[in-house]
Amino acid sequence: LFCFCAAMKAEAEYLPYKDPKQPINTRIKDLLSRMTLEEKIGQMVQIDRSVASGEIMKKYYIGSVLSGGGSVPAKQASPETWVDMVNDFQKGSLSTRLGIPMIYGIDAVHGHNTVYKATVFPHNIGLGATRDPALVKKIGAATALEVRATGIQYAFAPCIAVCRDPRWGRCYESYSEDPKIVRAMTEIIPGLQGEIPSNGRLGVPYLAGQKNIAACAKHFVGDGGTTEGINENNTVISRHGLLSIHMTGYYNAIIKGVSTVMISYSSWNGIKMHANREMITGFLKNTLRFRGFVISDWQGIDRITSPPHANYTYSIVAGVNAGIDMMMIPYNYTEFIDGLTFLVKNNFVPMSRIDDAVKRILRVKFTMGIFEHPLADYSMTKYVGLQEHRDLAREAVRKSLVLLKNGESAAKPLLPLPKKAKRILVAGTHADNIGNQCGGWTIEWQGLSGNITKGTTILTGIRNAVDPTTEVVYSEKPDAEFVKSNKFSYAVVVVGEPPYAETVGDSLNLTIPEPGPSTITNVCGSVRCVVVLITGRPVVIQPYVNRIDALVAAWLPGTEGQGVADVLFGDYGFTGKLPHTWFKTVDQLPMNVGDRHYDPLYPFGYGLNTEAKKGN
Ligand code: BGC
Repeated sequence: LFCFCAAMKAEAEYLPYKDPKQPINTRIKDLLSRMTLEEKIGQMVQIDRSVASGEIMKKYYIGSVLSGGGSVPAKQASPETWVDMVNDFQKGSLSTRLGIPMIYGIDAVHGHNTVYKATVFPHNIGLGATRDPALVKKIGAATALEVRATGIQYAFAPCIAVCRDPRWGRCYESYSEDPKIVRAMTEIIPGLQGEIPSNGRLGVPYLAGQKNIAACAKHFVGDGGTTEGINENNTVISRHGLLSIHMTGYYNAIIKGVSTVMISYSSWNGIKMHANREMITGFLKNTLRFRGFVISDWQGIDRITSPPHANYTYSIVAGVNAGIDMMMIPYNYTEFIDGLTFLVKNNFVPMSRIDDAVKRILRVKFTMGIFEHPLADYSMTKYVGLQEHRDLAREAVRKSLVLLKNGESAAKPLLPLPKKAKRILVAGTHADNIGNQCGGWTIEWQGLSGNITKGTTILTGIRNAVDPTTEVVYSEKPDAEFVKSNKFSYAVVVVGEPPYAETVGDSLNLTIPEPGPSTITNVCGSVRCVVVLITGRPVVIQPYVNRIDALVAAWLPGTEGQGVADVLFGDYGFTGKLPHTWFKTVDQLPMNVGDRHYDPLYPFGYGLNTEAKKGN
């Protein structure tokens, strides 16, 4: 009987933090007052899914899990498999003493790109070319729906880097070299998170509901300004330059209620951003009044010190005291937990700093309603790869294409191509390859070549677009003889860069690899040809421009290759504008609009227009 009464009593105990009717600040305060140091530090840790389990979540009170680059359950895992995996971790978190749910984060940077069959949108560089923030907002909403459909509540997007040098391997993750375009594209945030209500408070994260996800503005700050575009390197710039170029997107991201901000691996004038207290606590939190949580990059604090001086305890103090709230510690989380516990107990890290971090993390979790809806079900899995999302992606592809050359003169344009032609040659390594067309951050971190997910290749798009009487001949690497001996009316050559991500993509020469150049040489000159470039940035093209009849920058369009054919054959006109300066030779780099010695092949903002052709 006694036990029965005790149980009744426990059940009856009113816990303000569990009451959704209480204001969020009351819930945070109540929950924080009940937490031990161990529970608080656990909230500050994000681990990789490959080392996570329900038991680990419970044992260490882990606050968050991520799928780091390519860390997926299985390449072709169904949305239901993802839901089950996320729920397993969540059940571990819910079984802790206070039942604080975890939040799961993933790099959904151009759609829910890690998940098989999801809609993959153009990478940010292509979206920058559309100059269409309203479209980008819709892409945010579609991405959120597909991410949430797999039980995941958080995306490490958008990247609001301002890429100032195309040699940077992440240039395609940047909307533009122009801060104004990057700022405009922060419209993706209300797309991902939902519209901030009119009574919303500045800097306070906001999330509309179960069809939205938490966003992450990254990488704070100056990631796109490193010397020679070397990834994770040093950005040498005045304070005025940093604030007026690289910070521009953050002002708007915060106004739009962004939930989280990720710190950059890069340094600013020699100081690692992960240890820059003046910028993280001083500027971001105090001056800009950002109230969401700050997350480190993957093993970001490990890199504060480098061998032979590496000292992990120092890295923890520097990172936590700089103002980072959640640490992406994919694997060695026990070392971090032990280190931070030691540091707090010995007053190297003040308790107030820990409380600030935990409050921010809890605020996002409460705002998102994760306490009320911690577990996902299968009811939304139908949204993964939804036809309406594919149509939206196809529209984005059309608007992202930049026409750089069209025939000898405006009077003699080559494009749009006629749908009724005798025989069209489609050539090149990127013509029939979904993986190449998607680039990095697709299925795997580095991306993959080949038939890696569901979509339409550009070749298939062309076959669908032309008249049934038109013969389409495909050859990946045609030799000059083959081209000459066939009577082609036109040729479409689709070549470009192989997929890459981050440092792997850093390039000093910016050439497209063979057989790209030889395919251009073998085809163009003997047939009227249009070259479609599939690249993450401007590349060396000047030596070939004279033999090319028409030139299109298609960036990394994603799964909907049909959008390229829509425009090549005139169902829609070309409208895209260059988001980056197109250089003549790499020794001109860095070269940005406004520079004194600005002498580009095609200037920032360039792009020819064509009309849609009726009855083509
Ligand atoms: C990248 C981030 C990414 C993180 C998690 C890091 O290597 O710099 O942009 O969000 O990995 O995958």
